[in-house]
Amino acid sequence: MREIRNQFIILIIGMLSTLVLALIAAWIESEFNVLISDFSLCGVIPLGAIFMGYLAGRGCAVGARVVDRKPGKFILAGMFFQSFLFFLLILFFRYREVQLESEEVITLIEFGEFLRQTIATASVQDKSTFGSLLVLAYVLALIPVLGFFLGSAFVYLDLRTKPYCETCLSYLKQKRKQSRFTWHIKEAEITHEEILKLVERNAFSEAVRYFEQHAGPEKIDDSRHNIRADVTVMHCNFCGQHHFAFEVFHRRDHKKEWVQVNRLSIEKMSDTRIDI
Ligand SMILES: [Zn+2]
Repeated sequence: MREIRNQFIILIIGMLSTLVLALIAAWIESEFNVLISDFSLCGVIPLGAIFMGYLAGRGCAVGARVVDRKPGKFILAGMFFQSFLFFLLILFFRYREVQLESEEVITLIEFGEFLRQTIATASVQDKSTFGSLLVLAYVLALIPVLGFFLGSAFVYLDLRTKPYCETCLSYLKQKRKQSRFTWHIKEAEITHEEILKLVERNAFSEAVRYFEQHAGPEKIDDSRHNIRADVTVMHCNFCGQHHFAFEVFHRRDHKKEWVQVNRLSIEKMSDTRIDI
């Protein structure tokens, strides 16, 4: 029962953030005549909608942090519903604002009719390319909705894969994170091999010490270092289990972006206490 309550709290915070986002987007549209969620790449990839969906998903992430629970599949279904809700709200706010020959549309037609006409008009605008089939208009109207869902689902997957204690149903808290830098992947491979041996026999504290002494300097020399290795130790506040993670990142030509080298990742949860 308590778990259902927690999931509902995540869902409600997600819904509230969708409502707030729709209000902000509608306000920007009425003030500046630009609808952020309409922005697309090559007229097909709904970047604006994906971005808004991502922000709405962050609302669910706040909820997940508040109740300290991993969102269930139920939340993913809620996000799908939110995607429709967002665009319905945008159109509803527009419906309340629009005037036709100095008369407010709200006094002339029902919202359902306004909705149907808005979607049909979009199909007429695309007539040159796609023809004016109403069915196609509905399909086209679905693209931003799916984009919004994609943005939210990205946050959902991120929340599902964050280190989590399945015993206590709680997110793990970070105890310490350290980074070391080198210039060649070969060195990271040697560190990986040694740390893997220690982790396999649950010698976590030794693995941390090995990392501190052999994985390279703590400070980056931007002109030389292109490999970064991280050790993160997390623990569960409730049962005291520890989580050890070793990760390696690589960047090309001293650019800002670090890309993870998945084959060199080590991750393990243990009852053994890790002293760092
Ligand atoms: Zn626990």
